[in-house]
Amino acid sequence: MTPEHGPLIYEGKAKRIFGTSNDEEVLVEFKNQATAFNALKRAELEGKGRLNCQISAYLFEILQSAGIPTHFLGLASDEWMVAQRVEVIPLEVVLRNVATGSLCKETPIVMGTQLEPPLLDLYYKDDSLADPLLTEARLELLGVVDSNQRVEIERLARSVNDLLKCFFEKLDLQLVDFKLEIGVNRAGQLLVADEISPDTCRIWDKRVNNTKARILDKDRFRQDLGGVLDAYGEILKRIQEVSSKPRNCS
Ligand code: UDP
Repeated sequence: MTPEHGPLIYEGKAKRIFGTSNDEEVLVEFKNQATAFNALKRAELEGKGRLNCQISAYLFEILQSAGIPTHFLGLASDEWMVAQRVEVIPLEVVLRNVATGSLCKETPIVMGTQLEPPLLDLYYKDDSLADPLLTEARLELLGVVDSNQRVEIERLARSVNDLLKCFFEKLDLQLVDFKLEIGVNRAGQLLVADEISPDTCRIWDKRVNNTKARILDKDRFRQDLGGVLDAYGEILKRIQEVSSKPRNCS
């Protein structure tokens, strides 16, 4: 069901953002489009929008219950959510508990190495530059955040990791790594924004030993493993077994 909405504000690869009659709020539509490798690989996966919207809603609720601010205000339908209008900081904040993905392509760190403390990397969010990894000096030079915001972003990201890692652990799921985007609302508060879903996290099934079969995230799409929607559905099912329903705004 498509809720009543205002004009399109922004369209990304996985979501569309629309205005509403309240200019402090937006409606976020989760699309079925899947992309990887900076959108060189694309597919339409019927049902993905609903799964990512629902999973994100549950996870945002869990963060908010623990006092971590997010932009989530409530679900508007199966694949739409209402969120606070924020200015998204052009950074991709990546937290890693286990080494895999780009970390192992770009460094000699062996795949599967446990990272303790978890590794936090900041990338500059710009598809035309392929989201380059930033150094502290480049971050300062770019001036996208001041030093207080930089500290607060790291604190937020580490708290999200501590909380979600522990939550997923109870569901026999391992949170390998994930990407966050941080927004600033009208009041100047930093909030976890965007989405938290198997498109933006790596999650492995601890009930399965096989290194391919255990993958429940976008790596199934990236690596042509098939079963993408079943994997996302499994994550949603396990979350629903232990959580109360997210708020509804419809
Ligand atoms: N990630 C993301 N969007 C991006 C880049 C990375 O959501 O544009 C997520 C990715 O799904 C993984 C984590 O961030 O959970 C770390 O990704 P990595 O740097 O290993 O990148 P990749 O393997 O996708 O090149």
